[in-house]
Parts: sequence; C-alpha cells; structure tokens
Amino acid sequence: MTNLKIAIQKSGRLNEDSLTLLKECGISVNNGRDQLMAQASNFQLEVLYLRNSDIPQYVKDGVADIAIIGDNTEREKKTGIVHVLDLGFSRCRLSIAVPRSMEFTDLSDLQGKKIATSYPNSLKDFLTEKGIEAEIHEISGSVEIAPNIGLADAICDLVSSGSTLFKNGLQEVYKIFESEAILVANPCLEGEKRVLLDKFVFRIKAVLAAKNSKYILLNAPETALDRICALLPGMKSPTVMPLKEKGWVSVHSVVNENKFWEVIGSLKEAGAEGILIIPIEKMIL
Ligand code: ATP
Repeated sequence: MTNLKIAIQKSGRLNEDSLTLLKECGISVNNGRDQLMAQASNFQLEVLYLRNSDIPQYVKDGVADIAIIGDNTEREKKTGIVHVLDLGFSRCRLSIAVPRSMEFTDLSDLQGKKIATSYPNSLKDFLTEKGIEAEIHEISGSVEIAPNIGLADAICDLVSSGSTLFKNGLQEVYKIFESEAILVANPCLEGEKRVLLDKFVFRIKAVLAAKNSKYILLNAPETALDRICALLPGMKSPTVMPLKEKGWVSVHSVVNENKFWEVIGSLKEAGAEGILIIPIEKMIL
C-alpha cells in the first residue's frame, strides 16, 4: 500500500497545531513526542517527526513527500519545494529590532551595524535589496539577548506578539515579511501519491473554509426578506422557511467570520430577531 509521507515538526511551535489540523481532517495519528514515525490508522499517511529547520531539505530529497513548515523556513532555505497551501496558523513576521535606547529614524541607521539573526539568507537578501551594508552575525537561538550582551547592535528575528522583544528592551523597527504555517510538497509527486495529496488538500480546504465561516439562523418579517437576503448571500442563496406566525420567516445562511459583526448590526436594523450563530465543523465548497 502506498503511503503519503508527511513531515511535521517534532517539538516546537508548529507541532501541536499541525497535529490538530490532521485531527480536524479526520486523520488519527499518535503524537510523536517519543517516536520518529507514526502511521495514520484511517488514511494512507505516514508521519515523520523532524526538526522544522531540516524539513525543507528532506522534502526536496523525497525523504518526505509533503510537510507542514513555517513559510519563513523555506524562504530562508530556498530549496525550491512547492508551496501548496497557506494553513492560517503560526502567524509571525521576520522583523528588525533595535535596543529601545537606540535612536532609529530609518533603515540607513543600520549602515555599518552588526545584526544578529538565525535567518542569515533572508536578512542578506533584505539588506542587499535596501542597499545597506551591515555585518550579519549568525546565531542559532536566543537572538533577542544579543544586543544586551554586546554581541550585536540589532537583531533580525521572528516576532508574533512582540512580548519577547519588549522583555529584552528591544523595539521592532521594520517588518521584512510575514509568515504562517504552509503545506509544502516535493515537486515530483505523481501517481498514487498525487491522488493522496489531492484528497488530503481537499480535507484541509474543508476545515479551513469552516473555520472562516459561521452558520446563522434568524427570524424576520417577510417584508424585510429582500434586505436580509442581500446581507446574507450564503453559499448559493439563503434558506427561507415560513414560521407559524403569519408574515414571519426563518432565514438560514452562512456568514464570513470577518464580516460577522458588521453584518449583525445591519441585520438587526433590517428587522431580524432571535439571531443564532453556530460554528461549522466542515465546509465543502
Ligand atoms: P527546530 O528546532 O524544530 O528546527 P525552530 O527553531 O525553527 O525549530 P520554533 O521556534 O518552534 O522552531 O519555530 C517553528 C516555526 O514557528 C517558525 O519557523 C515560525 O514559522 C513559527 N513561529 C510562529 N511564531 C513565532 C515566533 N514568535 N517566534 C518564532 N517562530 C515563530
């Protein structure tokens, strides 16, 4: 039996959300805390638990067929593997930060400075693009302490909330790029593996679409129906059912999570009552 081999970070920021995504796709695997490999019990998928920074090369070499990694990792490694899908978690940004005591007006203040980072290629590309000559000091972890111990004048690191920078007396002064978890694949996948990948991507898309949407039910006077339907276009069109009370209908539809609060106000204004919002588990478009 052919298995699709997926590499997932063994431990670290991506591990838990990656396994949760598999679970939401209906795929059961054991957590890899004390193992390097696991076979899914209900999908032709074998999970390899690896270090995030090693994963792009393993996918390129075909040791793994696909993987979940941070977009920033492939941007740094540039292995040329295929970016299949954005997964919407582990959002962060690669940024330049300097000590709060340093006066910073613009990027030219970095000229001639020493910048510590674990992402030397991304930083080098950025500095070249901006025409800045600075010394890159590569370190593999705890980059944020480099200015405090006199190792560098500035840092280039991943930031999510910014609290680590704050605790270390640093301020974020420039965002180089944004990143999130992505699904990547070996460029040469074919045959049964390609079919398995398509099945897997289909499931992920259903999970992601459901996360971005809510099911909405409400009651409204028939006279307000046109206005309400215009606010809730739904997947095709809203479902409208008569209520026992004459002149009233129940409307069911799907609403985008981001538009939700905007739409609720307009629905109430239009005469909607008894609005219920329900999470959707999977959504097949
Ligand atoms: P490994 O030791 O497995 O090679 P790593 O040092 O790259 O891992 P983590 O620090 O766990 O591992 O980060 C994994 C990924 O999580 C990053 O590449 C990035 O995509 C994402 N991430 C999200 N938020 C942050 C953040 N605030 N700092 C660092 N990484 C973040």
